[in-house]
Amino acid sequence: MPVPVRQTARVGSYLIRQRLARREKFPLVVELEPLFACNLACAGCGKIQHPEHVLRRRMPVEQAIGAIEECGAPMVSIAGGEPLIHPEIDVIVSELIARKKFVYLCTNAILMERKLDKFRPSPYFAWAVHIDGLRERHDQSVEREGVFDKAVAAVRAAQERGFRITTNTTFFTHDSASTVRQVLDFLNDELKVDQMMISPAYAYEKAPDQEHFLGVEQTRRLFQAAFAGGRRRRWRLNHSPLFLDFLEGKVDFQCTAWGIPSYSLFGWQRPCYLMSDGYTETYKELLETTDWDSYGRGRDPRCENCMAHCGYESTAVLATTSSLKQSLRALVGS
Ligand code: SF4
Ligand code: SF4
Repeated sequence: MPVPVRQTARVGSYLIRQRLARREKFPLVVELEPLFACNLACAGCGKIQHPEHVLRRRMPVEQAIGAIEECGAPMVSIAGGEPLIHPEIDVIVSELIARKKFVYLCTNAILMERKLDKFRPSPYFAWAVHIDGLRERHDQSVEREGVFDKAVAAVRAAQERGFRITTNTTFFTHDSASTVRQVLDFLNDELKVDQMMISPAYAYEKAPDQEHFLGVEQTRRLFQAAFAGGRRRRWRLNHSPLFLDFLEGKVDFQCTAWGIPSYSLFGWQRPCYLMSDGYTETYKELLETTDWDSYGRGRDPRCENCMAHCGYESTAVLATTSSLKQSLRALVGS
């Protein structure tokens, strides 16, 4: 099942409302991080290096819901850390669904099968399972053997119960067109997940492994080669056609990090999920006190190699909705 019609319609009407209200900056998806602790320690991770007393903290349900209500975004992607470690993650999810928010629950899937009973299938809910490659490649990426098999088993168990499943795959320099195709063919054709998200890895300053992050030209070459031969059209990718054009280098965009903001234990993170130049208490304050024009490629050296969806997917979505041709492309998924 691709993006449900209900979700497309509600997000479309949200975008129209923002345009009618002449709002220039508004949130599309919030990256909600209700904890930083994780049960893995991937070398490319930029989230688990906080001191012990921070890793022990869990965001109260009311704080998480209050932040999402204040900003008004129609979609929420819950990440971390590993959200399934949070003792009230099911309550956060159900409270968001009760407010008709579309929720993606990101997980490395180690605890997923054990915790399936805490959740119910819903048009407002999807799992977003982290799978970076086939067995050997994924287990190497997360630095633990057996995680790929556990994730695949959890996905199959969730599918049997009628859950919507999406996946999230991050690519590094040791990937090639062939490893990209192998994992996406597997997820699309064998595991038959509903949709797949892809991303070039961002070079977090705190990540222990600094050698394997892709530069812009490498990213473009990788996706041009991987998408060739009509695969891009065949895969059920959860991205706008313009964002995929951007990954291939067919178009270029400026970052609009305010469209996919990040809210964590520290507050609203400036400017995005990937970088932290301070925090604000409200999304309104984040919008009003951030110098957005100083971020993005060509403006801040830390952004130079970033092609992440949290900076550029919202730019692509806004460009799509302001063009009839691109809107039709997005509808037919070309
Ligand atoms: S699973 Fe995610 S949060 Fe956990 S260590 Fe790996 S990258 Fe970090
Ligand atoms: S380009 Fe945008 S999304 Fe990427 S790191 Fe810079 S501010 Fe964040």
